[in-house]
Amino acid sequence: MAFQLEALDKLINELTRLPGIGEKTAQRLALHILKTGQEYSRAIRDALEDVENNVRHCSQCYSYTDRTDLCRYCEDPGRDDSLICVVEEAPDVIRVESIGSFKGRYHVLQGAISPLEGVSPEDLRIQELIDRVDRGQRGEGPEIKEVMLVLDADLEGDTTALYLAKLLHPKGVRLTRIAHGVPFGSDIDYIDQRTLGRALQNRVEL
Ligand SMILES: [Zn+2]
Repeated sequence: MAFQLEALDKLINELTRLPGIGEKTAQRLALHILKTGQEYSRAIRDALEDVENNVRHCSQCYSYTDRTDLCRYCEDPGRDDSLICVVEEAPDVIRVESIGSFKGRYHVLQGAISPLEGVSPEDLRIQELIDRVDRGQRGEGPEIKEVMLVLDADLEGDTTALYLAKLLHPKGVRLTRIAHGVPFGSDIDYIDQRTLGRALQNRVEL
């Protein structure tokens, strides 16, 4: 159902492109923005512009950063360069950080391999991870001794772990994955900090 008001329908249309937002919710949000007034509309517009201008991917780990090149975790001199925690999405970095005990580096794949959804290894930052390992082995960067996978315990996470194992094992890098206390099918978003902390400690060799 369209309002037949070009500007309003356009806003609703854009909002429905957001994940999890259906037509009805989009209408409600659009009307709310309209009702709240100009100040709020401007604040949203400014926030969007700000994100677009100032937030980018870190050139090393592919998490987000508002710095020039590297994110705060890649720049931090107090971290262990030989250990990389591989996660699917940028918010997973914040989850692992919240445990407070991990002091290695990160690598964000920006998804997981999913043949069903048409996500192949080339769509992810897998080659960039392998390049990081290779650079270390050639002495052109820090040597990476362990790659620790903090992937969701579902089909996509398993497929990605297997794929990475195939690439990393021949390079002699220790490959581990969190396992203990993480039930199958669970998204790491929903695991509490203590369980995730225990899972990191009790990681298993792949
Ligand atoms: Zn980074």
